[in-house]
Amino acid sequence: MKKSDFRDKRVVVMGLGSFGGGEDSAMFAAKAGARVLATDLSGPNKLAAALKSLDGLPIEFRLGEHREEDFTSADIVIVNPAVPPDNRYVRLAEKHKALVTSQVELFFQMCPASIAAITGANGKSTTTALSAHLLTAGVGQSGIGWKQVYLSGNIGHHPLLGLLDELAADDLVVLEISSFQLEQLARIKKGPDAAVITNLTPNHLDRHGTFEAYCRAKETIFKYQPLDVQRPCLSVFNAEDPITRAWFTKFHTQSGRTSLAFCPDDVPDALAAVFKCPGRANRANLAAALAVASHFGVAPDRIAAAVATFCPLDNRLQLIAEKHGVRWYDDSKATTPVSTLAALEGIDEPKILIAGGYDKGIDFSELGKCIARRAKAVVLIGQTAGKIEQAVRAAGSSAVIIKHAATMPEAVVVCNALAAPGDVVLMSPACASYDMFTNYIQRANAFITAVNAL
Ligand code: ADP
Repeated sequence: MKKSDFRDKRVVVMGLGSFGGGEDSAMFAAKAGARVLATDLSGPNKLAAALKSLDGLPIEFRLGEHREEDFTSADIVIVNPAVPPDNRYVRLAEKHKALVTSQVELFFQMCPASIAAITGANGKSTTTALSAHLLTAGVGQSGIGWKQVYLSGNIGHHPLLGLLDELAADDLVVLEISSFQLEQLARIKKGPDAAVITNLTPNHLDRHGTFEAYCRAKETIFKYQPLDVQRPCLSVFNAEDPITRAWFTKFHTQSGRTSLAFCPDDVPDALAAVFKCPGRANRANLAAALAVASHFGVAPDRIAAAVATFCPLDNRLQLIAEKHGVRWYDDSKATTPVSTLAALEGIDEPKILIAGGYDKGIDFSELGKCIARRAKAVVLIGQTAGKIEQAVRAAGSSAVIIKHAATMPEAVVVCNALAAPGDVVLMSPACASYDMFTNYIQRANAFITAVNAL
């Protein structure tokens, strides 16, 4: 696909969404001269931010519903990654000979720059931002062969197709990419110049069906990478995960590819000592990002300086206050037990944990065991409070103190009463926030405000 292929075409953007992908697609198609219709099952209130950013562009909207006629008359349908491939409207468009594509496919087809893409169950955003940060340290380095670094994909609200006009062949784009997007990318059999998988744990099984299907989607990040003996692509695997380690074994013999399996212990102590993101999981993220930065030729001294200046992303194991010897961490982005486990395992000081939230039906037995073993106290909030308490109790004899709180400010006050100098209070809920908050950012803000008010 080229930009000129969009001129005068009827383009339907399916799923405007609130993460920026739909907006970026609609804006791109409109600017390319297409007649654009954006449709979403949500209504205008929920989509207010997207509608505002598209204000003034010649785009029609069909909100609160999808209509068959929109799909039967489309030339091109740009499908949001949240829409399953067997969606009936997508099928209908295909039947009527529309070209069905997606933001990520279009980007890979049209991007002149090299692409480094990062996927995984946890640590994607951190590893993506960190890779971009380390690469940026190479800008201007003599003989490096590329000029600028761009950060995009499922991280913040960065444009993706909107970047295309700025990009040149000697630029680098660092992308965070989801399993849904990888499934879309597999359709055109394209992959990035450098690919990283941080780790794998069952996630989004409601959509992928089985863990095997989810793994298959993740594996496509490596499957279609450009193999070139003169200029090998880079494939980076987590050595501690049995599945991704097996992928390493499978892929590393291929010529035209440089393969590497990382683990947290690969990070030299001198770098780990200056790295501000705590815990072993973050050290794994750093190991992966170091592989990417080295592959693209950033000099070791530049990398070392950049490691020291990287700050944790907001709401990811972020130190937000230190009061009377107690350190308070915001890990509101920990919306699954695995992330909370990583936080509990990664911090060695006595920990008082705030956990609980929206009930996705996830099993808390591993989390319960870890809390029983690693925490001094846990203050439970939200729908899952009872389930987490049960899991902690089921873990057997433990000295962990269990408390409940009805609100975040109350939880913070309870933690403050329990905390002694040298302790860490960790708001790492292991659950989504929708039972009490709009999203994890609002949850974090409630925590930070309450901590500041102490
Ligand atoms: P993602 O983009 O995959 O959601 P983030 O970097 O945004 O990952 O981090 C989300 C949560 O996972 C945070 O709570 C963070 O502390 C935790 N986390 C970060 N890296 C890892 C990792 N490698 N393994 C497990 N949890 C991690």
